[in-house]
Amino acid sequence: MSIHVSRRLVIKMGSALLVNEAQGTIHQARLAGLAADVADLRAGGTEVMIVTSGAIAVGRRHLGFAPGLLKLEEKQAAAACGQIRLAHAYQEALASHDITVAQILLTIDDTEERRRYLNARNTISTLLETGAVPIINENDTVATTEIRFGDNDRLAARVAAMMTADTLLLLSNIDGMYDADPAQSNGATWIPRIKVITPELEAAAGSASSADASGGMQTKLAAARICMAAGCKMVIARGDVDRPVLEIENGARCTWFITDATPMAARKQWIAGSLQPRGTLIIDGGAEKALAAGRSLLPAGISAVKGNFQRGEAVNINGATGALIGRGLSAYSADDVRCIKGYKSGEIERILGYRGRDAIIHRDDLVLEEGV
Ligand code: GLU
Repeated sequence: MSIHVSRRLVIKMGSALLVNEAQGTIHQARLAGLAADVADLRAGGTEVMIVTSGAIAVGRRHLGFAPGLLKLEEKQAAAACGQIRLAHAYQEALASHDITVAQILLTIDDTEERRRYLNARNTISTLLETGAVPIINENDTVATTEIRFGDNDRLAARVAAMMTADTLLLLSNIDGMYDADPAQSNGATWIPRIKVITPELEAAAGSASSADASGGMQTKLAAARICMAAGCKMVIARGDVDRPVLEIENGARCTWFITDATPMAARKQWIAGSLQPRGTLIIDGGAEKALAAGRSLLPAGISAVKGNFQRGEAVNINGATGALIGRGLSAYSADDVRCIKGYKSGEIERILGYRGRDAIIHRDDLVLEEGV
């Protein structure tokens, strides 16, 4: 198993790896090692996104908060102070390899609510196309308890699923999954590969172990479950080493969670099976041929619109005779599609007053009839 064969990878860096507990300073040498790994991955053609923790751990010391549990507003203030320092440290570390970084702060809704999900996915895709490395964290400064992930293991898994990544690498201070808590039991056995998350595994997962990190083995298992359902592999490995990815490639101990599904197949299954269609687009013969040839659905090929859907919601696609052709996520609301149907994509801006995407349904967001 290799990280370098990944085409689209999410790396999650835990707080305890990045932040010196006593002073709240960022561990620059560790970031430099990670940056060297990222540069190698990018040179080999792997697209990389980094989900980073550490904003609260860095900020709390700067703001002089006492050790121990923080109130929600103190955490938010700490995150506001720490995130800017963290982002700067990543920018510097990756700039020495001529890699541009871009900051993305997400709340749970951005990865779950349809309309915002499409937004976040498109922004991050655009960054990846330009070659930038997105540096992602939770938007802790505005997230209230109800809309918080609270832990970056799950945030990283949601990002991996949303971005159809094929691998999520969770870097922390443990070299994988054991059949018991290795801190408590000498006889704990390391598990190199996991295909199914069993109740025994759940029982073996302990709780959070460090003051700064909110994740423990339980959040890692929750992340694995999200990944596997999305056709994405997940690796738990040590991040407290010089070159974590290189070490894995050289055979360092780690645990792989594997799945037979592929990310795109899992995404298409989600579109076809899990989402309730909110409307119907009726398309002409030319568009039908284009879809069959693997292209996206453009406004020019749409002859009628039924229903009332929002941007990002699922819609059925019917042919002129009424036969179901497929299902997809609409990049425009029903009202907007009614205005631009039949027109060329170049005219969208003139008609709607803003420039959205060229396609009503991008081919990655589309499943043809056999899959619906
Ligand atoms: N978002 C939090 C931070 O940056 C970390 C959450 C976690 O460690 O899982 O401080």
